Amino acid sequence: MKDKIAEMQLTAESWTPQQVLSWTFDTFGNDVAISSAFGAEGMVLIDMASRLRKDFRLFTVDTEFLFSETYNLMDRIEQRYGIKIERVFSLLSPEEQERVHGKALWARDPDQCCNLRKVEPLRRKLGELRAWITSIRRDQTLIREGARKVQWDAKFGLVKVNPIVDWTSKQVWRYLHEHDVPYNSLHDQNYPSIGCTHCTRAVRPGEDPRAGRWPGTAKTECGLHVIEIQPLTPLPEADA
Ligand code: SF4
Repeated sequence: MKDKIAEMQLTAESWTPQQVLSWTFDTFGNDVAISSAFGAEGMVLIDMASRLRKDFRLFTVDTEFLFSETYNLMDRIEQRYGIKIERVFSLLSPEEQERVHGKALWARDPDQCCNLRKVEPLRRKLGELRAWITSIRRDQTLIREGARKVQWDAKFGLVKVNPIVDWTSKQVWRYLHEHDVPYNSLHDQNYPSIGCTHCTRAVRPGEDPRAGRWPGTAKTECGLHVIEIQPLTPLPEADA
């Protein structure tokens, strides 16, 4: 599969998000799922997927530290799209984590906290799948700049599909408004990027959209989206 991905990767760069999703569903059937934390980009993918097939799989890593607005949105998604979100949890409850690792691990060692509550549960979930679909965009962080629409995920050992990787935030919001897609109400309160309550704050005017994630630290990623690009897969030349 890794070789097949390398062969078709450049071609896939010219596909629309819907074409990417269709190819993915046709290729992997029930062995592919959308991974989402229900940000604006994730909502675009969920809505697009629902128009292509009714029984698509959707999972989330529930850190048990999410905002009530996020849990509320999850309920609305299940109602609107008639699906059941697959929720994956850490092996440690928040109480067990405190007992084993001490109080407020997220403040002392956010990488370890993210490993326990996000990366390990994700790895367990991805072990069930042959491919996963994410809503990352290249312009979100430096690490994401190297992402392709279809790529081999060397970290987790399966195919990773990023249908809207070349979209801008403006395109995301245009889609949501045009299709009347539900979204997290925190976006209307200056939270462009939403994660756990302990590590997310509203951004101030002029700040980077991800400045509200792990504020006061150099951390920009929880470790889910390490991009390792195979050689010989340059992006197509942009139109002049
Ligand atoms: S975002 Fe913060 S609270 Fe959530 S898992 Fe990572 S460090 Fe822990």
